[in-house]
Amino acid sequence: MKLILLGPPGAGKGTQCKRIVDKYGMGHLSSGDILRAERKANSELGQKAQSYMDSGALVPDDLIIDMMIAAIKKAPSGYVLDGFPRTVVQGEGLDAALEKAGEKIDAIVNLQVPDEPIMDRMTGRRSCPECGAVYHVVNLKPKADGQCDAGCGALTQRKDDTPEVVSYRLKTYHEQTAAVVGYYQGKGNTILDIDANQDIDKVTASVLGKLDALNG
Ligand code: ADP
Ligand code: ADP
Repeated sequence: MKLILLGPPGAGKGTQCKRIVDKYGMGHLSSGDILRAERKANSELGQKAQSYMDSGALVPDDLIIDMMIAAIKKAPSGYVLDGFPRTVVQGEGLDAALEKAGEKIDAIVNLQVPDEPIMDRMTGRRSCPECGAVYHVVNLKPKADGQCDAGCGALTQRKDDTPEVVSYRLKTYHEQTAAVVGYYQGKGNTILDIDANQDIDKVTASVLGKLDALNG
C-alpha cells in the first residue's frame, strides 16, 4: 500500500503512521525524521535545513522533493509518507516522479484537528533521540517518567516544540500546507477524512477501519 498522511503539526501523523506500519508492514517515510537524521550526521542537506527547521519555516521544496524521491525509491513495496508533501509544489514533484515510475498513491489519510489542542500536544511531546518513539507528558506517558519504553534512555523535547515556534509552524501550515488537501481533491485521489480530535486509540481505530475497507 502507498499512502500519504496529511494534517497540521501535532495532528498525530507520526503516532498514527507507527500504528499503520505495525499493522500493514510498509516503510514509514517521515520527512521530519529524515531531516533530523541528516542534521545529526551533519550532512550538507542537514546543514542547509537547520535554520528553516529551528524557526518553524519550511525547508525549500527542491531539497525536500529530491530527498523524499530518493527515500521512496528505497521502499518499492509500499510506504506511508509522513509530513510530505507539505506544499502544492511538493505534491506536483511527487506526482511527476510517481507517474514516471508508473506508480500511484492508493489513498490520502487526512487527519483533521482544530488549532486549539495543537499547542498542548506539541509542547507536551517528548521523543526518544535514539529510536524516534514519540510520547506525551499527559496523553501518552512512558512507563517510567522521562524514559523510553524501549530502554534507549532519556526522552528529550524537540527544540522546535516551544510555544513561539509552534505558533509559527501552525501559521506556515495554514498558509502553505492546508492547500495540499485541495490539490489532491482536484486530482480525484481517494481521501480518507479522519476526526483526529479524539483519543489516540479512537483515531487509530478510525484510520485502520478505513484502510481495511479500502483493501477490501
Ligand atoms: P505529528 O507527527 O502530526 O506532528 P505526533 O504524532 O508527533 O504528531 O503527535 C504530537 C503529540 O501529540 C505527541 O506528543 C503525541 O503523543 C500527542 N498526540 C498524538 N495524537 C494525539 C491525540 N489523538 N490526542 C492527544 N494527543 C495526541
Ligand atoms: P511536525 O509534524 O511536528 O510539524 P516534522 O517533524 O514533520 O514536524 O517537521 C519538522 C520540521 O522539518 C518542519 O517544521 C520543517 O522545517 C521541516 N520539514 C519537514 N517536512 C518538510 C517538508 N515536507 N517540506 C518542508 N519542510 C519540512
